[in-house]
Amino acid sequence: MRIGFDVDGVLADFHSPFLAEVSKIVGELPEGTLLPTFDAPLRYGCTQEQTDDIRRRIMESETFWELLPTYPWTHDVLERLHSLRAAGHDIYFITNRPGRYAKLQTEHWLYRFGFDNPTVLITAKKGFAALTLDLDTYIDDLPSNIEEVAKVINNERFVRGQESSFPGIYILNQPGNVDFKFQGYARSPVKRVDSPMQMLDEILPK
Ligand SMILES: [Mg+2]
Repeated sequence: MRIGFDVDGVLADFHSPFLAEVSKIVGELPEGTLLPTFDAPLRYGCTQEQTDDIRRRIMESETFWELLPTYPWTHDVLERLHSLRAAGHDIYFITNRPGRYAKLQTEHWLYRFGFDNPTVLITAKKGFAALTLDLDTYIDDLPSNIEEVAKVINNERFVRGQESSFPGIYILNQPGNVDFKFQGYARSPVKRVDSPMQMLDEILPK
């Protein structure tokens, strides 16, 4: 099986350090504050200049991505993915991280948490990545990415006259996406999960 994984918001906790950077400027933010995108600090009192400056510092950092914290499930999920690769499955880590050495930092980070020699792809075009790699399944936390992957896969299957053999596209429940309603595509259903392990258990039961 060919399995695609988003990184930030799925395996790596980008949000906490990003929030810390914003708090340095505007002070402590209320619990539950969500900063899902690089321009989100504008909504919490940062000026455009300060917002640009945070992004610039992250992009110029040679360690920001490499030092991101994990989620409670990250170690177990990477261990499982590692053994799935050893069993012959193809694992792709697909991320839109910007900045210096973003790919190399991501590779180091994955290695540090248990996945050696990972295949990391840096792209904003996740739908085309899923199509080109002929993925069987994909997980992400950002609704716009899920919508794009679902649409591209659905269109491809429609053109080829295929029914849905895609085991599914998964969105990981995170505070920023729980209210999002998917348009839905017949040939590329989207399923919600509370952890990436739930997705792996579903597509490849032990
Ligand atoms: Mg993400």
